[in-house]
Amino acid sequence: MAVQLQTLARAVVPQALRAPLRRAAYYGHRRRCPVCESRVRRYLAEGVDRPILRELDVVGAEHRAGARCPVCWAGSRTRLVWLYLQRVSGLLDRPSRLLHVAPEPGLCQRLHGAPLVDYHAGDRAPGRYAHAPGLVQLDLLALPYPEATFDAILANHVLEHVEDDRAAMSEILRALRPGGLALLQVPIALGLKTTREDPAARTPEARERVHGQRDHVRLYANDYPDRLRAVGFEVHAWRPEASAVESFDLNPRECLFVARRPRPQALARKAA
Ligand SMILES: [Zn+2]
Repeated sequence: MAVQLQTLARAVVPQALRAPLRRAAYYGHRRRCPVCESRVRRYLAEGVDRPILRELDVVGAEHRAGARCPVCWAGSRTRLVWLYLQRVSGLLDRPSRLLHVAPEPGLCQRLHGAPLVDYHAGDRAPGRYAHAPGLVQLDLLALPYPEATFDAILANHVLEHVEDDRAAMSEILRALRPGGLALLQVPIALGLKTTREDPAARTPEARERVHGQRDHVRLYANDYPDRLRAVGFEVHAWRPEASAVESFDLNPRECLFVARRPRPQALARKAA
């Protein structure tokens, strides 16, 4: 019934009115979403509760009650990315060109509205992103941009859907300026040493059983940063301080993998 009402609401309420209506419906004082700055009386649940996610201790896809903004839909992982972009990266404080793949609505709005950011959005399936202004259709394996175009590329929870993720990582590296950063969060199985990728799991049922979701072609594990390093990124795991985890309602188990395209001098040092 709830799903039918949602479908009906989507059919009759124009896109531009949906967030303001949700903001009014959920208005309250318990939470303040740091992404869309709405004050709401509660957050919604995020993630799913599946045996494989529990067994393999998967971070980033697990079910968490009270974790998702009902206005802009930002969940824990979106707030983590926003916290880093806003307070640590420096990208919003200087002119920077940014590509946002599969743009999350609240984050898209903030970045598009940031005065110094030259914002570009893209996805393989543009029809799903009516909220993203100027979004272009793109293929992560052949980005329609020259080498060294962007200061940052964001693609959260995208690579686990891409058959040839190493090719996509290389393409993202190519499109970044030296020193530019990629934020490419994925669900990670802390209970697995090595990424699980079963090409025989081709049906939605098999993929859900083996990789944790019906459209995931692999389940990343503790070797994820090494996979990024193997194509040429410098990677470090960034963890916010406890006070930020609390004020941004973050998932205390989740860290942010910050991947950088090395600057030429760093490469020269490495070769020496
Ligand atoms: Zn929000």
